[in-house]
Amino acid sequence: MKKIKVLNPIVEIDGDEMARILWKKIKKYLIFPYLDIKIIYFDLGIKNRDLTNDQITIDAAFAIKKYHVGIKCATITPDKERMIEFNLKKMWPSPNGTIRNIINGTIFREPIIIKNIPRIISNWKKPIHIARHAYADQYQSIDLLIKEKGKLYLYFESENKKNSKKIKIHNFINPGIAMGMFNTDESIYGFARSCFHYSINKKIPLFLSTKNTILKAYDGRYKDIFQKIYKNEFLLKFKKLNITYEHRLIDDMISYVIKSNGGFLWACKNYDGDVQSDTIAQGFGSLGMMTSILLNSNGKILESEAAHGTITRHYRLYKKGEKVYTNPIASIFTWTRGLKHRAIIDNNIFLKKYSQIMEESCIEVIESGKMTKDLFQLIKGKGINKKINYLDTESFLKILKIQFEKNYIKIFS
Ligand code: NAP
Ligand code: MG
Repeated sequence: MKKIKVLNPIVEIDGDEMARILWKKIKKYLIFPYLDIKIIYFDLGIKNRDLTNDQITIDAAFAIKKYHVGIKCATITPDKERMIEFNLKKMWPSPNGTIRNIINGTIFREPIIIKNIPRIISNWKKPIHIARHAYADQYQSIDLLIKEKGKLYLYFESENKKNSKKIKIHNFINPGIAMGMFNTDESIYGFARSCFHYSINKKIPLFLSTKNTILKAYDGRYKDIFQKIYKNEFLLKFKKLNITYEHRLIDDMISYVIKSNGGFLWACKNYDGDVQSDTIAQGFGSLGMMTSILLNSNGKILESEAAHGTITRHYRLYKKGEKVYTNPIASIFTWTRGLKHRAIIDNNIFLKKYSQIMEESCIEVIESGKMTKDLFQLIKGKGINKKINYLDTESFLKILKIQFEKNYIKIFS
């Protein structure tokens, strides 16, 4: 088969454990046989991060900035146990966090919907895309235990000392707890622009949720910045595509999300996004079917990844020589979403078509009743056709390859 020529390189980021095993198989079966592509490769496996004092992660992030497309395998974020397991020099930070800070982007998650995989929330017919403002708020806050009587203040010291403010928050008579947090206009503007760009790319409406009735200044700032950006930069483009932007109170938004059929982007503040993205993932079924991208504020730089981790439990079985039933779909979509971005920037219609056919083939195979164990377990006991059974990862990939080639030949010959 003739390979599709990809003019500009992509940055490939390798990872850890079962995700790394899947990654290698996907490249062998589904990517390299069909694409003539230059790969800028970074091995972010935990041992190499340790060996390079994590410089490899920083280099990878700058390479994504340079080439505009990153395709990332899941990586271990070390904790105390992992430090001992791999004899690490340091508890290296999350690579995703490092890359996100360098690219300065927003994370968007999108579930892959398959007709025969039942959803816990059955009225969700179209994907609910969720954007998390992954900067500051609770995640860079100071929290503390108050153990004695005393007064708690919020104190801002202006640089010229003229506009300093000291506001009493609470008079503690008994022990309690306290927290101080912040965000910046710059980061909220970036978040807003990434969200509007994403909505336009996907041609779906956008909602922002906040609690601005309670946090009038804090959450009100999110509402105002989104509204301003919408009016000044995106209103006409949205009108042209017949899509809308709306702010909703978080409570109102959650009840709307549950009742809806999906098909929109939900922009969440940091903590809301952390929590609600798990609600959405569960509601749609499986972590193995959730894609994730990091998009910068002008929509030009994109890094794609699966939402799941390195699937350690499966890896331990694999190392013992057992057959594994890990679902490769989210990792395949990691490749197709990254390659689609490459295709759009380079105006490469063949590459765009390749990504589309690959995604459609994945869906077709599962809809024909061939799937991995995680999906099988979701439909088991729902009175579905007894012919459906589950496959191990390798067999599933081989069937997928056959289906892809069938569809590919139809289009490209
Ligand atoms: P995980 O790797 O997402 O796996 C948790 C469980 O979810 C698995 O044991 C498996 O359930 C199920 N699962 C996830 N992906 C699946 C797939 N593709 N196919 C089938 N089942 C799948 O989360 P974790 O075990 O909490 O984390 C493991 C490591 O990943 C940690 O070191 C963490 O730091 C890292 N991590 C990395 C990223 C990232 O790089 N983006 C994200 C999250 C976590 P069953 O065992 O029940 O089959
Ligand atoms: Mg979470």
